Amino acid sequence: MKIAVLPGDGIGPEIIVQAVKVLEALRSDGLKIELEYAHIGGAGCDAAGDPLPEATLKLAQASDAVLLGAVGGYQYDALPRPMRPEQGLLRIRKGLGLFANLRPALVYPELVNASSLKPELVSGLDIMILRELTGDIYFGQPRGIRTLENGERQGFDTMLYSESEIRRVAHVGFQIAMKRNKKVCSVDKANVLDTSMFWREIVTNVAKEYPAVELSHMYVDNAAMQLVRAPKQFDVILTGNIFGDILSDEAAMLTGSIGMLPSASLDANNKGLYEPCHGSAPDIAGKDIANPLATILSVAMMMRYTFAREDIAQRIEGAVRKVLQQGLRTGDIYEAGMQKIGTAAMGDAVVRSL
Ligand code: NAD
Repeated sequence: MKIAVLPGDGIGPEIIVQAVKVLEALRSDGLKIELEYAHIGGAGCDAAGDPLPEATLKLAQASDAVLLGAVGGYQYDALPRPMRPEQGLLRIRKGLGLFANLRPALVYPELVNASSLKPELVSGLDIMILRELTGDIYFGQPRGIRTLENGERQGFDTMLYSESEIRRVAHVGFQIAMKRNKKVCSVDKANVLDTSMFWREIVTNVAKEYPAVELSHMYVDNAAMQLVRAPKQFDVILTGNIFGDILSDEAAMLTGSIGMLPSASLDANNKGLYEPCHGSAPDIAGKDIANPLATILSVAMMMRYTFAREDIAQRIEGAVRKVLQQGLRTGDIYEAGMQKIGTAAMGDAVVRSL
């Protein structure tokens, strides 16, 4: 298992250290794991003048999987756009052809009170949000800021989806649903956007190849509402880049803390980039208070999706459950009666229960 490790910025390095402890524990159990480190984001700018240095992309391309911390920081906010840390992320996703972003929103029974919704609405919640990651308005051309003939300035972007892009991510969605509760809800804005009308047509076509899966469609505004009204109605939510960006953060909060949520971004051959859903949290960086569990759970997803080792994935997830059952909590998921611990202690606790 050749894994590229990209700690990035802010809390990235601290939480990556904890995930690496887990990988090293697995290695000492006999798993053949090779780790190699590189810079990305602000750390890439500092080290090589580029948020995605060429050496980093090369290493990622030559690896089976990539484990990433997070990117971004106040000190990089004023840089011109091509130099901004987030560009490193967008470029590595594009460079590796990672078109399918999987974000589970899962409520652990031990954390049911951490949710912003009533416990009965989220208890047992288990949704998979599948966001298309390399198309849509984030990449469509033309885009820019122009001055019209009358002198007024105008900003513009282009929403674009080609048939092959929709088809391949739809297949991933139906295949994931086959292993879960066999329900796909495709989210779009087909009442207003032509791109969405086309999305709906293609998804409906692909669905014919998966007769066991129940397909429904929902407008994105309604989906945003349903996620806080009755989130348990969903199994797999399949959606485009911009809608998925927003809905997956909303779903994240249903689970209590963004510090618990892993993600996977896959290419056509299940090579993947694994990272927590949260950002670099510069407000808490270096204080040993960040929650490393989302990053550790990202390693579990790596074992499941890239290395097809469901057994190891479940072992890691089981270790995290056990730590929560022991009452150990980082600050973001702390409640009265529990034991508050720091980032490094949380990593150690997971390794112990592993
Ligand atoms: P953020 O996710 O970094 O932080 C939001 C809030 O959640 C903060 O209060 C933070 O302290 C808290 N938080 C986040 N992760 C946590 C953890 N593991 N444990 C405990 N608390 C945690 O989002 P933001 O503040 O909007 O962005 C900060 C920087 O991160 C920006 O530069 C942004 O561009 C970048 N960002 C990067 C990614 C990524 O690397 N994938 C994603 C989102 C934002």
